[in-house]
Amino acid sequence: MTKTDIENFNKVMAKYGGFWDIDNNQNIEETTQEGLKDFLNISRTAVDRISQYFENSPRIKVAFTRSTKLGAVVSKLDDTYFIGIYSGTAFILYYFFSWMLRCPRVLPEIGDSSKEEIFKLEDPHLIDFVRLLDTLYLDDDYNPLPKDPKRAHMVEVMIMHALVFLTLHELGHILRGHMNYKIKSKVQSSFIDSIELNMFSDDKDGLLSQAMEIDADGFASHYSLVKLQGMFEYMQNKNEYSTFKDFPQLLGTWVFSISTLFRLFGMFKYDTSKLKQYSHPPAGFRATGILKEVDDAVLKGPISHLCSPDFKQNVQGFFFYYLSQVENAFEDMSLNQAVAAEGAQSLAFAHYYPNHVHDVIRSLNEIKVSIIKDHKFKEKS
Ligand SMILES: [Zn+2]
Repeated sequence: MTKTDIENFNKVMAKYGGFWDIDNNQNIEETTQEGLKDFLNISRTAVDRISQYFENSPRIKVAFTRSTKLGAVVSKLDDTYFIGIYSGTAFILYYFFSWMLRCPRVLPEIGDSSKEEIFKLEDPHLIDFVRLLDTLYLDDDYNPLPKDPKRAHMVEVMIMHALVFLTLHELGHILRGHMNYKIKSKVQSSFIDSIELNMFSDDKDGLLSQAMEIDADGFASHYSLVKLQGMFEYMQNKNEYSTFKDFPQLLGTWVFSISTLFRLFGMFKYDTSKLKQYSHPPAGFRATGILKEVDDAVLKGPISHLCSPDFKQNVQGFFFYYLSQVENAFEDMSLNQAVAAEGAQSLAFAHYYPNHVHDVIRSLNEIKVSIIKDHKFKEKS
C-alpha cells in the first residue's frame, strides 16, 4: 500500500479503528506478527486472483483495522476500494477455534481428541477481544491451543477459511455492484458494510440490505470453494498435520469454520416483529444460503471432480453434521446452557420464518435485475 493508500484507508476506516500497521507493531510477539502477516497475505492474494476473473475490476486494497471486534468493512474513496478486516477477528477466532477443538466430542476424526480439556466460558457471545480477555483474567502467557498437534494446526486452517470468507464477502459487495448501486441510488453517500449482525439498517428498506448480504455470502462461498481445490493440493504436501483424509474432510473444516463465524455473529435475540429492519439476515438464514452454495459446488461446480458419487448423494447430511459439531462445541463451552439453546434456535431461523426468507430472495432477484443493467464489473466468460 502506498502512503496515500494508508492515509485514505485511515480516513474511511476511522470509525472502525483506522489502519493497523502490523509491520511496525512493538506490542505483539514475533510469531503472532508473522501469523497475522500470513493471514493478510492470503486474503490479499485471494482478492487479487478473484478480481482477475472480472472485467474492469477496480483497485482494491486490503488491510487490518485496529478494531478489537469480530468483523470486516468495505468502503470507497476516489477510485480505490478499501477492505478493512478488524484485527480483533484474528484473535477472537484463534481463541474460539482453539476452545472448540478442545471439546473431545467435537470433530473427533481430527487428531486424537481424547486428551483435550474443555475450557468453559460464562459468555460465548463476546465478540470484542479486549472485553473477552478482561472477563477471563487469563495470564499473559496463556495458551488456548488444543493439546493434539493436528487439532492445533486445524485452528490455523479454520482461521484462514474464515478470514478469506470475510474478505471475499466484502469483495462481493464491490464486484457484484452493491456499493456503486447504493452510492448511486443515494441510499448512502459512501457504502460502509460492517458484517456485524446486531444493527438496524440505515435504509428504509432493510430487505434490500439483507438481500445484498445474502448475495455477498454467495459470492464469498462460491469463490472460497473455487480456491479450496488449490489449497487441498498445496496442503497435502506441506506437513503431516496439514494432511486431510480426503477432500471432503477439508471441505468439512470450511463448513465448520464459516458456520462458527455466523454462530458468533448470530448469538443474540432477534426482535422477530422487526425482521425487515435489520441490515443483516439472521445467522440461520445465512447458513442455509451457504448450504446451497456447497451443494452447487459439489454437484456441478468447481469441486465436483474431487467428490465421490457416495458423497454427492449426501451433501445435506454432511453439511448438517458440521453444523451440529459447531452446536456441540458451543454447548460444551457454555457455562450457561440457556445461552447455547438460544443460538441453536437462531440457526433454525429459515424453518420458523419462511416468509421472511421469501421476501429477501424476492428483493435479491429485483436488485439483480436493476444492478446488472448498468453494472461494469462482469465476470469474464
Ligand atoms: Zn456484508
